[in-house]
Amino acid sequence: MQANRDHADWSMAVVSPVYNERENIRAFVDEVIGVLDTLEGLARYEIILVNDGSTDGSDETLDACAKERPGRVRVLHLARNFGMEAAIDAGLACAGAGADAVVIMDSDMQDDPAIFPEFVAKWRAGYDVVYAVRSSREESIFRCALFWAFYRMLGWIADVPIPLDAGNFALMDKRVARALGAMRENNRFLRGLRAWVGFRQIGVAVARRGRYDHATRMGFRGQWKLAMNAIFSFSYVPLFVFRIAGAFTLLVSAALILWTLYHKLVIGIEMKAWASQMIAISFIGGINLLGIGVIGEYVARIYDEVKGRPNYVVHRETQYDDQE
Ligand code: UDP
Ligand code: MG
Repeated sequence: MQANRDHADWSMAVVSPVYNERENIRAFVDEVIGVLDTLEGLARYEIILVNDGSTDGSDETLDACAKERPGRVRVLHLARNFGMEAAIDAGLACAGAGADAVVIMDSDMQDDPAIFPEFVAKWRAGYDVVYAVRSSREESIFRCALFWAFYRMLGWIADVPIPLDAGNFALMDKRVARALGAMRENNRFLRGLRAWVGFRQIGVAVARRGRYDHATRMGFRGQWKLAMNAIFSFSYVPLFVFRIAGAFTLLVSAALILWTLYHKLVIGIEMKAWASQMIAISFIGGINLLGIGVIGEYVARIYDEVKGRPNYVVHRETQYDDQE
């Protein structure tokens, strides 16, 4: 079933999280609309901007933006800052099954909408997910190196193959959007969930532009949380590592016991071993604590899921009907 892909009339939703992007909102929306207006056969579209508890007055700019562009821009104001993943989740729920295709992109100019026609061409050719692969990044060498290493490590340990260097920027068929919306897990890592759902997926190389103001909103803590979710929600390798470490430590300890017994019973000298005892105690203590920490990461996630809190709370919605 190819849904509405082959029809002349199709619809699209663009979901974008917004956190303190006041200076950029209008430019972003206009750039996106400029490209959407050129897409062949696109009968209806809506840009869904999710205000993730901005504190810089973005809310007023967003509302004004929706008013100036009736029927094309919808704004969802969350009750506080819930984080980018939750904001995207809220936007997806809002897009619902109303659009044939859903694009997710950042609102900071880093994702270039000029790639939309290529996204759509691939979608029309039968792909359900067309994701952007970052062919280049305009970011510091340190950040680039960190991302490079992280994606490779994740690719190595994750249960499902998560494409390398692919971000949130993607076009998804409505079936994929619906499947993602149905997943209610709290500690979300969209790129992983998107890979997990399956369907036909393909990457398209896109140069990632620099941020318009060079100041990331995620911050180190946000990136760290996302990285931890990526690892602990998609891999049991951390537990496996500690099983190996445990087995190795047991082997070393067995060898030490034999060695000590040999000295006492065969050679007849007792081992004076203050230093080696301290090393062994601190080594095993360290491994134990690390292992408990790793188990704790999983337990905390179980606790989060059991609480079953929603990922976000919507404060209000702004939408103006097109009078045409
Ligand atoms: N964002 C959000 N909530 C947050 C942090 C960021 O909605 O708590 C939005 C932000 O406005 C942007 C996108 O998520 O549109 C990505 O954030 P950022 O550009 O800081 O991340 P980076 O591109 O540096 O990974
Ligand atoms: Mg960004």
